[in-house]
Amino acid sequence: MERANIIGLDKQHVWHPYTAMAQYIAETDPLVVVGAEGPYLLDADGRRYLDANSSWWVTTLGHRHPRLVRALTEQAASLAHVSLAGITHEPAARLGAELAAIAPGADRADVPAEQRLSRVFYSDNGSTAVEVAIKMAAQYWAQNGRPRRTRFITLTEAFHGETVGSTSVGGVKVFRDVFGPLLFDVVHVPSPAEEGGWARAFSEVEAALRAHPEEIAGVILEPVIQGAGGMLMYSPDFVRAVREATRAVDTFLIADEVFTGMGRTGARFAVDLAGVVPDLLCLAKALSGGLLPFAVTLASERVFSGFLGEKSRALYYGHSYCGNPLGAAVAREVLAVYRDEDVLGQVVRKAPRIQAAFERMAREIPGLTRPRAVGMVGAVDLGGGGYLANRGWRVYEAARRRGLYLRPLGDTVYIAPPLNIPDAALDVLLAGVEDSLREVAKD
Ligand SMILES: *Cc1c(COP(=O)(O)O)cnc(C)c1O
Repeated sequence: MERANIIGLDKQHVWHPYTAMAQYIAETDPLVVVGAEGPYLLDADGRRYLDANSSWWVTTLGHRHPRLVRALTEQAASLAHVSLAGITHEPAARLGAELAAIAPGADRADVPAEQRLSRVFYSDNGSTAVEVAIKMAAQYWAQNGRPRRTRFITLTEAFHGETVGSTSVGGVKVFRDVFGPLLFDVVHVPSPAEEGGWARAFSEVEAALRAHPEEIAGVILEPVIQGAGGMLMYSPDFVRAVREATRAVDTFLIADEVFTGMGRTGARFAVDLAGVVPDLLCLAKALSGGLLPFAVTLASERVFSGFLGEKSRALYYGHSYCGNPLGAAVAREVLAVYRDEDVLGQVVRKAPRIQAAFERMAREIPGLTRPRAVGMVGAVDLGGGGYLANRGWRVYEAARRRGLYLRPLGDTVYIAPPLNIPDAALDVLLAGVEDSLREVAKD
């Protein structure tokens, strides 16, 4: 089909995510992508774009990694879907074991058995992985002697997904405010990434835990990088301090690693940077490498055991695609590629170049603030405009003309490319970001 016809149908029928549709229909000339390979998107005019955000942080191994495509087609040839109700299958069983074996703390003798993340609950996406964790925590306390524990502590600028539950624990105003009356009550503390360090955020976490120990079901956080809130980065020391504070009152720490998990920060999980084992850990996005939606919530043996006994104590929760064999088979292959291609080692080698490039850009280009980088994420701000500001979009246009797909978060310009992006392509990406920022900075 011709490019123009595709856009015609799209503008008549497709309601795009996070998009002001009137402006989109009137003004936007969307990329029409017809294929993708490695770090590149290919459009209907035969142009190639470097995918600077791994298609919303998903394709950490690049697009259509041949081993993932093979794992998908081989699995599809025997079993594409079956429910997990009274049924199991090899991909779900083996993936569960493989995740438990690499989960934070799995290799540490000092972590007691009840703290090990040895149980896996399957769902479809990051929002549901978080929803599962919230429900597990709430139900655990409801039936294990602390029924008033229904409130969560969460961070300003947190993003945990789009269901009403995961939005409730979120802290980004534009995603939250309109739904205010539908959301459940949480305790918001400042972002640990705010200027001046994480001490203020932590003292509020501690104060809330101390003031309401009987009410707090858990603390939820995106360890080390608050992604959708604007690539806000903070020290792993905050995660460690929160872990100690939650242990002191015996409540849960929920690590939402939907963005940071699977090597984005250079460690397998961002909590590994802090040496912390959470009670619940959410993974999605990179877990299935961009082939299909797939998510897990890892739970400690203790959380799991809180649901045993009478039938009424079970977690009555599930999704139609729980443990989907295609997703599980692809996720197993993702883990295998990480092992065989030393993906974490690649991140550790490439990360300093991203950091140096963003620091230099902020030094040399007027108006840029807060250069920051962790692992395969680099970001810089164009000056305090927030999510709905538009200078970021001018950088997007400038980058697009240079063959980069560089979608901003408001006035935060960032890259989160595939972890295995070849060095030469990373150089092109960093140079393109710099040129685009210079162009917009000029006026
Ligand atoms: C993207 C994201 C989610 C939501 O994941 P979806 O798959 O989009 O539902 C949740 N938490 C974090 C940290 C995310 O980055």
